[in-house]
Amino acid sequence: MPTEVPIDRIPREVFEVCDVLRQRGHRAWIVGGCVRDLLRGLEVADWDLCTSAKPEQTKACFKKVIPTGIAHGTVTVLWKGHAFEVTTLRGEGAYTDGRRPDEVFFVDDIREDLARRDFTVNAIAYDPVLARVEDPFEGRVDLDAGILRAVGVPAERFAEDGLRILRGARFVATLEMELHPATRDAFAGALDVYAKVSHERIREEWLKAFKARRPSRAFAVMQQTGILARTCAPLNALTEIAIGPGRTAFDHALAAMDLAKGPVPRLAALLHGVGRGRAAEGHAGDVAADLIEPWLRDYRFSNDERRDVLHLVRHHDLGAPRTWDDVELRRFLQRVDASKAEAVLATARVVRLAADEDVAWIDDLTARVRAVLVSPPPLRIGDLAVDGKDVLAALGGQGGRAVGRILESLLEHVIVHPEDNTRASLEPRLKALAAEVSA
Ligand code: ATP
Ligand code: MG
Repeated sequence: MPTEVPIDRIPREVFEVCDVLRQRGHRAWIVGGCVRDLLRGLEVADWDLCTSAKPEQTKACFKKVIPTGIAHGTVTVLWKGHAFEVTTLRGEGAYTDGRRPDEVFFVDDIREDLARRDFTVNAIAYDPVLARVEDPFEGRVDLDAGILRAVGVPAERFAEDGLRILRGARFVATLEMELHPATRDAFAGALDVYAKVSHERIREEWLKAFKARRPSRAFAVMQQTGILARTCAPLNALTEIAIGPGRTAFDHALAAMDLAKGPVPRLAALLHGVGRGRAAEGHAGDVAADLIEPWLRDYRFSNDERRDVLHLVRHHDLGAPRTWDDVELRRFLQRVDASKAEAVLATARVVRLAADEDVAWIDDLTARVRAVLVSPPPLRIGDLAVDGKDVLAALGGQGGRAVGRILESLLEHVIVHPEDNTRASLEPRLKALAAEVSA
């Protein structure tokens, strides 16, 4: 017997909304991701409902509704402080553009609505009022067996919508399931349709994959089925670089990503080694950052995501394992920006850990960075006990570029001797430097 729906975990408000529809002569179900996650014992964030009521009828049943996507049959019902998307049962016409159906039409049969969904585990509906499960494709059996299987004929379903194979790869990681062989075999034939998927959608799927316990499961599927080659060729190229017996630079990138925490660190760990084998072109971190910068733009990562990923990639290579003296530690904080130092060290750590290297020295550095940042030393010109006005005065009001140069040189001194960052110590130095410039 497949897993029962844990009714006690469905919020009372969901029952109430379904009951209101029922009392007006309609049917209503919870459907899709929420039923799947309920059956898996997970927290459910969004309760998606579907109903036999037409959108206008749904609207008439409730006081507060937002016509979210009336043309597609979706209205948002506001009920006791909650918002529920309620979608009229629908079927879909032909797909000619590989992205969305040419037309949607409303249907009366829940099974028809379930038939247009992508995977059997996403095609289960539950009527909480009648306590009845609709599971025509045996999604619960697949869920219990850990099998991700397309609804219907996989090649046909993937040809309709190129996003589905990427969702499939992502679910392999987030649901920790295996692709059914026939479903997997159909991926290759859908790559041309996949190429039509918007880059925004692809970015969203990557970010969802990063939430998995082991996102590498998704990326391994993407690599093996050809999706990755169509998405990020420089990352895919790492499969050609052997770094040990039976191990490639791509395997290393996947392992580092799994060890990292959070979306940006995981993306940085995944991409850190891109361009490997082109060391002649410069520092590895810079080579990788320069290669992925246009890619991150192309795939619509936000400005913040792009900046942060590039920063981690650029600085993750700390050189050979060793301890740093306090001056070197401060130079590092200056170089990477103190607020990002821990994140850079964390990336360096997972990259090395994934290669089975010792990371005790990075842990030591991290602890020291934390201790130093409790009361941060002067690291920027703005932290100096003197400022541009002081320098200008010492130069007799005529400064130009000399002002900046003098401040730089004072900062350089203070990085080595933070204890000298007082007016009393810096003023004589400032005067001496100003005198040199004026001479
Ligand atoms: P998650 O919310 O965890 O990303 P989900 O399965 O809930 O996963 P949604 O995008 O919220 O995904 O979609 C809700 C439901 O709509 C899915 O469970 C599935 O039944 C259906 N669905 C979503 N996208 C597609 C698609 N591209 N093709 C077919 N059915 C889809
Ligand atoms: Mg969802």
